[in-house]
Amino acid sequence: MRFVSMNWSPGYLNVCPQHTDIEVKCTCCGEQKPFDRHTVPPLFRHALIEDIEPRLRCSSCGAKAAKMLFGSYVDDAAGTNRLLSR
Ligand SMILES: [Zn+2]
Repeated sequence: MRFVSMNWSPGYLNVCPQHTDIEVKCTCCGEQKPFDRHTVPPLFRHALIEDIEPRLRCSSCGAKAAKMLFGSYVDDAAGTNRLLSR
């Protein structure tokens, strides 16, 4: 599985469609991890994405330089299998 960013932001977290997958990238060290929207405190559920990003601390380097990426997970292996079975 591979995360593909749509290069798009919903603006507010609460209007982000449930089928949209979110990852957070540290612009300081490059670490990128899946983001679980359910871990966001209730106070920030209706917050602007740009207000949430500065509050996310990188677990690798400790920097507060998060960038939220919106997209979906693509299963490369399944795509390959489809091609082979044709
Ligand atoms: Zn980092």
